[in-house]
Amino acid sequence: MYLVRQKFSDEYEVAKFDERDRPESVYKIKKNKCSCPASYRTKRCKHINLLESFKSKKDGIYWFDFDSANNVVAHKIEAFDEAME
Ligand SMILES: [Zn+2]
Repeated sequence: MYLVRQKFSDEYEVAKFDERDRPESVYKIKKNKCSCPASYRTKRCKHINLLESFKSKKDGIYWFDFDSANNVVAHKIEAFDEAME
């Protein structure tokens, strides 16, 4: 499971959690450059896709995952909506 948060206008953090919801790693994405090891080998790592999905969500709180083909899957956290009503 992944969570994304915006730190500054052009800086985001992607946090990865393991199966027991323990934080595993945090990557910084600044000006579309990710701090993860994969981004040194490839120009575009999967966290950039994740960030774009995050940016496309206008409202609500989401957590993210990847399917077997490494496509981003966004999951809306409905509990936040219910608590607001
Ligand atoms: Zn990355």
